[in-house]
Amino acid sequence: MLVLGDQLSTRVGPLADATPGEDRVVFVEAAGFARRKRYHPQKLVLVFAAMGHLRDRLRERGFDVDYHRVPDFEAGFRAHLDAHPGEDLETMRPASHGAGEALLDRFASARATVAADSATDPDARLLVAENDRYLCSPAAFDDWAAEKYGDDPESFRHEDFYRWMRERTGHLVDDDGNPVGGEWNFDDENREFPRSEVAFPDPPDLDVGDDDVVREVAERVANEFETWPEVANGATIVDGGETPGGGADLAPFRWPVTREGALAELDAFVADRLPEFGPYQDAMVERSWSLNHALLSPAINVGLLDPEECIETAIDAYEDRDDVEIASVEGFVRQLLGWREFVRHVYRREMPGLAAANQLDATEALPEAYWTGDTEMACLEAAVGHVRERGYAHHIERLMVLSNFATTYGVDPGDLNDWFHLGFVDAYHWVTTPNVVGMGTFGSDALSTKPYVSSANYVQRMSDHCAGCAYDPDETTGERACPFNALYWDFLAEHEDRLRSNHRMGLVYSHLDDKRDAGDLERIRERADAVREMGADGSL
Ligand code: FAD
Repeated sequence: MLVLGDQLSTRVGPLADATPGEDRVVFVEAAGFARRKRYHPQKLVLVFAAMGHLRDRLRERGFDVDYHRVPDFEAGFRAHLDAHPGEDLETMRPASHGAGEALLDRFASARATVAADSATDPDARLLVAENDRYLCSPAAFDDWAAEKYGDDPESFRHEDFYRWMRERTGHLVDDDGNPVGGEWNFDDENREFPRSEVAFPDPPDLDVGDDDVVREVAERVANEFETWPEVANGATIVDGGETPGGGADLAPFRWPVTREGALAELDAFVADRLPEFGPYQDAMVERSWSLNHALLSPAINVGLLDPEECIETAIDAYEDRDDVEIASVEGFVRQLLGWREFVRHVYRREMPGLAAANQLDATEALPEAYWTGDTEMACLEAAVGHVRERGYAHHIERLMVLSNFATTYGVDPGDLNDWFHLGFVDAYHWVTTPNVVGMGTFGSDALSTKPYVSSANYVQRMSDHCAGCAYDPDETTGERACPFNALYWDFLAEHEDRLRSNHRMGLVYSHLDDKRDAGDLERIRERADAVREMGADGSL
């Protein structure tokens, strides 16, 4: 069987039924994949080291394991067919659009080459099965959407889907079919401001730096791959530099690369951070990069953890302990049972158009600060810094700083998607694309009915960044005015034809009318243009 780098699970898929001594396990570490596009160095270390660890573990259990370190998948398949011409490979369909067909194509080419070279046709096949790493299959989702929305099956909404998933799985549903705690959704209780006395536990030190496999892979990544570029004045100037991986750090590397490490990450989250996960889910603070977020997406997305076991562990803690409130556990379950599954299906149904969608015709290049992290905007500096240091920023930094700023600035959603794909250790096309192009930038309305945009107001209300920032969140124009403000009003004015009729935006358009009536709009738009110039020349 073929184990792909984001399917490193022995609990589902072909590996779940494999027998040591009987079944061969094949890994293909295709360097060309990581050369065609740049990735954060920690992403490459995470995936390659997790593959290496699973290889070693399967060998210890008595499996025959072939680990092909090759330029591309076709070369990996050729190596397999040369050595075992009659052995089929089974795998699960990759979640990214077209990737299953691409694997089948590469396999067919490899088979043709081996047949031509050896004058006998290897009769091995590549068998691509359903991807079992999700909680809702494509068929189940499609049946639900068809039944629920009848004539308009594309109008599916997350809230309906999430509720259906709760009913279907029975998670946080009582014996009478009612939601535990009396509500299906405690989102209103997820919005507390983190006062300075609120402490956020440090995430566990997983000791991954001492791991031999990590060390070997990290050395290769530093020497052989182009990763985060150093950028100045809009141009890439060097790769490498003081830290391996250019402008992003390779150390300290803290992401689990083994099943044991991933379970330790899950246990630490449930023990220390789940109790306060709910109240501070929408907050940001200078003193903590992680707050109470789970930090589980890197492990879940490569297959070291299953979403179901994360959900069950959190619900068990709620049932067994007094310190876990329903708003926290429901908030966590909603993310995994609801959002994660929902975005996967939106992506599946909306591709290939979704990746190129740009309904607001945004064409600006990314501000230089997204590469350098050098900016006087405290919130943006912190969020980009977190990405450079660990390949991670939590959800609110992603949505309300990195995407909000890029959207109101007018960045092309495809460029922002590429940046997220490069920058994050948990980035895969199936999950980054709907989140960036749909939720983050409103490049498509497939995921939300209105853009998630805000002035400085959100950051000021939900974080402590503004207190020490060089910019003033209460000013809209003038040199010291927070850039978010002019960009926000400029964005609303620019997209008035499309957005004013949206009933969820009526209130903000009445505020825009006030600014227009007061004669302020022209100066606001000039300030927004000035902000874009500063973004482009690196002086933001
Ligand atoms: P928590 O906040 O603790 O949430 C728990 C889990 O819920 C996460 O581990 C994740 O598996 C799941 N989850 C929550 N929200 C989402 C969501 N919208 N989509 C998918 N899963 C979700 N998630 C990725 O896994 N990879 C990405 O590349 C990615 N890119 C994003 C880009 C943007 C612009 C935005 C707004 C969101 C993105 N997300 C992405 C979703 C979400 O931000 C991350 O899953 C989350 O921040 C991961 O950190 P955590 O494990 O600490 O999550």
